[in-house]
Amino acid sequence: MTQTGTPPRTASIGRRRMIQGVASTIALIGLPSGVWGKQGWSNDPFSMGVASGAPTPDGVVLWTRLDPVVVEAAGLITQSIPVTWQVADDAQFLRIVAQGVIQAVPALAHSVHAEVSGLSSDHHYFYRFLAGSASSTTGRTRTFPALEATPNSLRLAYASCQQWGNGYYSAYRHMLDENLDMVMFLGDYMYEYPSSRPKDIRPTTGGWANTIESYRQRYALHKSDLDLQAMHAAAPWLITWDDHEVQNDYAGILHGDSGRPVEDFMARRRAAYQAFYEHMPVRRADFEALISTHNNNAKVFGSHQYGKLATLYLLDTRQFRDPQACNPNNKIGASQLDPSTCAIWNDPQRTLLGTQQESWLKREFEVSTSQWNVIGQQTLLGQRNFDTKGGVRFSNNGWDGYPRARQRLIEAMIQTKLRNPVVIGGDVHENWVGHILSDYNVPTSTKIGVEFCGTSITSLAHTSQEKANQMLRVNPHFIFANTEYRGYGVAEFTPSGMRTTLRAVEDATNPRSAIHTLAEFVVESDKPNIKIVE
Ligand code: FE
Ligand code: CA
Repeated sequence: MTQTGTPPRTASIGRRRMIQGVASTIALIGLPSGVWGKQGWSNDPFSMGVASGAPTPDGVVLWTRLDPVVVEAAGLITQSIPVTWQVADDAQFLRIVAQGVIQAVPALAHSVHAEVSGLSSDHHYFYRFLAGSASSTTGRTRTFPALEATPNSLRLAYASCQQWGNGYYSAYRHMLDENLDMVMFLGDYMYEYPSSRPKDIRPTTGGWANTIESYRQRYALHKSDLDLQAMHAAAPWLITWDDHEVQNDYAGILHGDSGRPVEDFMARRRAAYQAFYEHMPVRRADFEALISTHNNNAKVFGSHQYGKLATLYLLDTRQFRDPQACNPNNKIGASQLDPSTCAIWNDPQRTLLGTQQESWLKREFEVSTSQWNVIGQQTLLGQRNFDTKGGVRFSNNGWDGYPRARQRLIEAMIQTKLRNPVVIGGDVHENWVGHILSDYNVPTSTKIGVEFCGTSITSLAHTSQEKANQMLRVNPHFIFANTEYRGYGVAEFTPSGMRTTLRAVEDATNPRSAIHTLAEFVVESDKPNIKIVE
């Protein structure tokens, strides 16, 4: 089934809304109007759009960032700027249910995070921001169901890897029509690379991202995309990161392999993590130590309860991992390895999640009473042998490079009798669908869950379809692989089962690209056996 392509959104559609009378609204609710309240802005200070995320049964994080060019033109770049946020039951904001003022400060790039609480559970809301004479576009979000609620469905999209130069975000324009409760984003929101001309479809401005200013600039570039903005404004997102938010193939405290050498990698990583915070609807407490005390770490892993229907776990397989094993010639970054020549590969000490996150996750599994346990993480969980001619060759960058850590995760699922484990991933820029086995080295071992690793929004695939077909034969726990299409997945969970639909953008280099359904899969509850819908 192919849908007709719809034209890309342009700035003329509902974005630049300088609402008249906002100054009087601000006076009415007793907020400071500031010097710009009289003269207004030279341009839309909310040009990066709005976003919401990290929903709970009674709240959500609302995000925006004031456009630095507009702030500079107003002579306010070194000043704090009060920004009003409003949450309403209706799109006209006649029934405002919560509002407040946040100081957008220069130290955090005039970003705004309103952590709203006290809302009704399982409820849709409209929100917007006001600054001086300007109003942001209106966003729509929802709270999650109450912990004891029994929702009859959860419908989410999962996405990852949106290298700017590789294409347009048609995927998000079509995602708008999916009637989603939320979006799960699994890493590589941006890439630190400079533009690679003439290959790039659209130019990446700003060179290498490796300082706080260059990371901010790179996020701002992505936030200028109106298809991405529209999807952020349409539903709450749960977001984690992978390597490119900092540097290609970095591993914990060890730098990766791209960009100008930066002498102090931890300073670079801190800058990147702070810029991530400044541009995402995430919670301050998880970044407080990083921002306030220059602690090196931030927290993006966590669990999110969707009534009794599902627990959504978000993992971080980058920040706390050991270095990749057995790179040839002590090269930095990632490569493929042959386990028979790499003793350290099987070392039980090696970790992908880090000790703290790993024990946290097991405790979460122990106490989970959810029907579906959906684990969003960066990459492919299942073992994937690239050698289709009888040997063994694994990537050392994902779970295949940390087999004992993977086995501990699987044992944790088994020991805690975790109900309906569903692993969702990204990173490989290709769709891979398969069963989680109790032991990947024994093809007849028990299927304990299912895995859907998604393709990229734009980033290029690494494997040909022909090679993927050969790999399916030597990795039979995978039942489907497609490397040809960019796009996203939609997973719908109900008390009886789950359905996953892989949505494929026809041509990510076409800003008006159509989309079609590549494949569809169903899994009955308590029966980890994926059926392809014919
Ligand atoms: Fe990627
Ligand atoms: Ca990646």
